[in-house]
Formats: sequence, structure tokens, C-alpha cells
Amino acid sequence: MDFENINKYRELFIGVDNPVMLASGNMAMPIGFDNGATTPSLKSSYRAFCKGLVTYGAVARGTGQKSEITTQKYEEARQIILDFFNVGNDTNYTAIFGKTTTECINLLAKVLIKDKNERVLTTRMEHHANDLPWRYNCNVDYVDVDCNGRICIDDIENKLKKGNGEIKYVTITGASNVTGYINPIQEIAKICHNYNSKIIVDAAQLVAHKEINMKGNCPGEEIDFLVFSGHKAYAPYGSGCIIGLKEELSKVIPFLKGGACVKAVTDYDVVWKEPPELHEAGSPNSLGVIATARALQELKIIGFDNIYEHEMILKEFIIDEMKKIDRVILYGDSKNIDDRLGIIAFNIEGEDYKVMGKKFADEMAIALRTGKFCAHPYVNRLMGISDEIACYNAYNNKPTNGMMRASLGLYNTMEEARSFIAYIKYLVSC
Ligand code: PLP
Repeated sequence: MDFENINKYRELFIGVDNPVMLASGNMAMPIGFDNGATTPSLKSSYRAFCKGLVTYGAVARGTGQKSEITTQKYEEARQIILDFFNVGNDTNYTAIFGKTTTECINLLAKVLIKDKNERVLTTRMEHHANDLPWRYNCNVDYVDVDCNGRICIDDIENKLKKGNGEIKYVTITGASNVTGYINPIQEIAKICHNYNSKIIVDAAQLVAHKEINMKGNCPGEEIDFLVFSGHKAYAPYGSGCIIGLKEELSKVIPFLKGGACVKAVTDYDVVWKEPPELHEAGSPNSLGVIATARALQELKIIGFDNIYEHEMILKEFIIDEMKKIDRVILYGDSKNIDDRLGIIAFNIEGEDYKVMGKKFADEMAIALRTGKFCAHPYVNRLMGISDEIACYNAYNNKPTNGMMRASLGLYNTMEEARSFIAYIKYLVSC
């Protein structure tokens, strides 16, 4: 592919060419390399959002025309999202909307776990959103990462084998928000099912970058539950979403309780609805859901092969160039990078990550993320920081160690990648 001609997707996005002010007071084009946190909106998604505003009304509550239109769009969006993950025709699955991935995983941990002794297996690669909810609800065990930060699939199988069929769920990230490693979720699903376990995938980082077929390619490979956030997939106000097995989400007391999730409430009794309504108490973020569905449709139209190829070219260029720069520390495997999304965590030797991160923004309008990216155990492993040091620093309000992270999106260009590399070269030469 022609390197110079790979920014053809940029015009599909809103706001990416709006200048921002540098510390000097000059205006500059922003370079958005913080797509792992949240993404700008696709124009088509934004338009769907705006169109939804014109006919905006209450979902499943009003008798007015706008209420009916919004309810219909909301339910259409649910179907689009189920179709996107290839489970649209399978009545075993439902889609439930929440606020964010964080809220949705908290919901799953509350409703799927019936007893604190129930066993769940997760990994040391997880974002806190897929670690802490389980820690506080059940008996959780962890698969560790290797020296490059990858999960060893055999370790998952060994733990499941030792678990004698008693590990109820394996909950794992689809892709790391620190190193970008893509986990082979279908292969893991198959292993889980062989040991009577179900798989939950945190797809927050994966969904905008790689096609996900929840049915798998052969029996046994089905993903049982998957969670993602629309706001990381180019949808304004994009909400969180769970796609999961309806039966397991039925006949449970919901995480959020309130209106819209009940058939009847009497002085002493509550008759709950079925999912998805059971888990959608309160007024939903209907426009965010509509925008999410439209963004996912657009990604399918663009084609995940194209998306993947575009991001891989940028990723390869950036990693290859960074490897050549003295004093740049790259985290994760920078030799074999095929199983990585465009997420690059790094440091500059001898420099403070926070100071450097701010310089990227102040001087170049390059938006990065700094810190431990809500994945402290994983980052501590990659940096060789012991639990003792991490806790000592936190308890004593000492500065913590951390990294910088560039996370790429579909609208990023080779020109931006070059500016990023040039600025790192400048920083190390100072
Ligand atoms: N899981 C992963 C892998 C993430 O990267 C993030 C956010 O960065 C989350 C979960 C949490 O997503 P949200 O902020 O939408 O709750």
C-alpha cells in the first residue's frame, strides 16, 4: 500500500482537523494518539445522533410520537449491534445497554455470580474494569503474563484442568490497552467450553479494530459474553454494551434497580421483567446507543480488513522507528508485533513520563496517555515494579512510575506518525 495515501479515512471523522492551542499560544493541528481512552466521532454516527435528537423522546415510557420513534430506533440499534457480532438471529443472545464497559462488567460480576465462593479465572493483563469487579464478588484466580507481557494459553488450560470443571467463568481482555496484544478469544472460548466454563470478553479495545464473530468458526468457539463501549468505537456519547446469553441473565436480581425493569411492584413484592429490560433500569442513553449502532455499521462498511491494514502500517512504522531511537524504552514485544493492535507503550530513559507526556501536548498538540492506564498489575510487571514499591509509593503519596502510551485510530495518518517520531528524536537529543 502507498504510505502517503493511507489517510483516506480521515474525512469520515468529525473534529479531527480542529486546531488546538499550544503552550506557546500558537494554534496547531492536534494529533490524536489517545484512541485507547476515547475516540472522535465518525460523521455518520454523529449525524445519526443529531437526527435522533430531532425526534428525541422517552424510551418505552411515553405515548407520544417522539417517544415511539426513539423507542423504535433504540430497539433497531439493539438488533444492529447483535447482527454486528453475528448473533442477530440467535435468540439465545441479548444485548444490554449500560453506561460504560466498566459499569457493564460490574453488572455481570453482580448478576452472574451467585455465591462468593464461585470461581472465576482472569489474567494479569486486564484493565481494572475486568479485574476489580470480580475480586470483590467471587473467588478469583489469575493467569500470569510472560516476560514479554503475553498470556500463555496453556496456562489458562492448566488452571481450568486443575479447577475440575468448577471455574464458572474465564474473563479476559480481547486486546490489551497497554501493549495492544490481541488474545485469541475463539481458541480460549473452545478451551473454556471443554472445561465446563464460560468465557467473558472485555472487548473495549478490540471492537473498533478487529472483526468479532461471537459465533466463532466452529462449534465450541462461541463467545458467551462480550462487553464494549461505543465511545471507544467512534460514537459520540457511545454507551456500554453487553452481548450475552439471555438465560444466564434471566431470573436474577438486577445490578441497577428502579423503573422500567419491573412488571409489577407491590408493597411487599417485585415482579421483574426479562432481559434486556431487566438490566436497563432508568432512562437509557438512547442517542448514544443509536450512535454506537451507526458507528459499528460504518466500520463494517469500511471493512475490518482495511481498518486492520491501515492501523498495522502505522503501527509497524512507529515501532520500527522508535526501536532505532536511542533512550527509547518500548514495552511488550517489539520484534514480533503481528498480534498487537496499534497501541505503543513507551518511556524515554532518564525522563519523567508525566513531564514528557505534557511536552508532547504542550509543544506538538500530540495527545497521549500517561501513567499505568488503569492496568497497574500489568504495567508493574512490564516495568519490573514490585507490589511492595507500588503500594509504598501509593500509601505515602510518592510519585508513581508510569509510561506514555500512543494508541492509534483509523483517522491517524502517516504524516502524524512522522511528526510523532520526529518529536521523540528531538526530545532525546535535548
Ligand atoms: N477495558 C479495557 C481493556 C479498557 O481499555 C477500558 C478503558 O480504557 C475499559 C475496559 C473501561 O472502559 P470504559 O471507560 O468505557 O468503562
